[in-house]
Amino acid sequence: MSKRKSTTLQDSSAKKKSAANFKTEWLSELVETDTPTTKTKAPTKLGDIFTYRSKSDDVVCLYCKDAHASGDFATGKRWDDWKIDYLKRHVTQKSHPDSVSTLRLQKNRRFAQTTKRECR
Ligand SMILES: [Zn+2]
Repeated sequence: MSKRKSTTLQDSSAKKKSAANFKTEWLSELVETDTPTTKTKAPTKLGDIFTYRSKSDDVVCLYCKDAHASGDFATGKRWDDWKIDYLKRHVTQKSHPDSVSTLRLQKNRRFAQTTKRECR
């Protein structure tokens, strides 16, 4: 008898555009972006760029954190209303590609040292 009522309730909540909570399935979404390990833009999982910390309910951009960039994403960014667009937008903001190029430089330097040792 009450079956019909609960179905209607579910339908209306599914239509909500923004989520009140971070959704871990967002981390499996692919974005076309620069990464420290690629030379050009490559499809990258959001989970390879961002990590969600449920304890503090915030998101950290691993590239910005590793590059010691300034900004909320390097230390932990949080919203009251979560949207996957916020994560996708961050990778196009200037501070993020800056972090990527910083890490690329660091990696190249480390790689040069390693090859030197190997070919000794
Ligand atoms: Zn970033």
